[in-house]
Amino acid sequence: MALLEVKNLKVDYPLRSAFWSKKKFLHAVDDVSFTVDRGETVGLVGESGCGKSSIAKALVRLEKITGGSVTLNNVDIAALRGKSLRKARKDFQMVFQDPYGSLNPRLSIRNALEEVLTLHTDLNKKERQQRMRELMQMVGLNPEQLDRYPHQFSGGQRQRIGIARALAAEPQLLIADEPVSALDVSVQASIINLLKELQRSTGIALLFIAHDLAVVEHISDRILVMYLGRVVESAPATELCSKPLHPYTAALLAAVPTLEKRSVSNIKLAGDVPSPLDPPAGCAFHERCPFATAECSQKRPELREIAPGRFSACFHTNENGIFTCAKPQ
Ligand code: SF4
Repeated sequence: MALLEVKNLKVDYPLRSAFWSKKKFLHAVDDVSFTVDRGETVGLVGESGCGKSSIAKALVRLEKITGGSVTLNNVDIAALRGKSLRKARKDFQMVFQDPYGSLNPRLSIRNALEEVLTLHTDLNKKERQQRMRELMQMVGLNPEQLDRYPHQFSGGQRQRIGIARALAAEPQLLIADEPVSALDVSVQASIINLLKELQRSTGIALLFIAHDLAVVEHISDRILVMYLGRVVESAPATELCSKPLHPYTAALLAAVPTLEKRSVSNIKLAGDVPSPLDPPAGCAFHERCPFATAECSQKRPELREIAPGRFSACFHTNENGIFTCAKPQ
């Protein structure tokens, strides 16, 4: 049984409108389903505004779940309130994009970790001190720096502290929402490798969210590609990156300059992601897709299994990653 099971998740944001007119909503996440197994790393990728962060926030209940269900260990997260929600939070922790914003500048690292350990573990004072030192070592920081404050660390070190803080609760699932995009390129790889190493050593499940497919490929067992609030492709990472079954994935891969194994490398992403306030009819990608046909602008393709373990929401693809309707422009 999967550790995390997300079924038909919807996240809507109400839009401001005149009080006499019908209430309107922005559908940030629309009918998204996926699972994460114990010890698995699942990558969630897509351009900004595609709904990835809304999913992350909904999973940890920082955003309201409008529809569908989210179960962790068979417990319905969406139904939890008050004390039971606080208790359940121990099992799913989040690493945020902005490590500085997520740490209280007035708390020393010792106090920030103490807060989590007191809330989520039964350790006594002495054991908590020992655990703090272990956590610092786990994330590659010197335990002698526990009494420093967030501003005394670099961006990469602060993200390590954010990871230590998330791990302090001993969660079963870590949700990392763009954990490296605010960092210098030079430190991004070290944080990704740290997450990879921690995932291996602790057996924790990881949902890794990023807009860069090369980064996601490096860390994930399985990848979900999102476009305008919906999953358009899902597959094991190596298969998805060597033989994409959705033109959008192929275009994202073609945009990665450093990787060469592109089977469909000449698809260019034209234009911007359409506004989620006014999404196109039919396939949401049709205005940017070089393979679009008349059918694509009228009917919405559902996510379907094209080959074992490989899902794509495209009318015109087959298991060989060939887009069967036309040649790319
Ligand atoms: Fe392109 Fe049509 Fe496939 Fe959508 S359904 S990705 S528009 S070919």
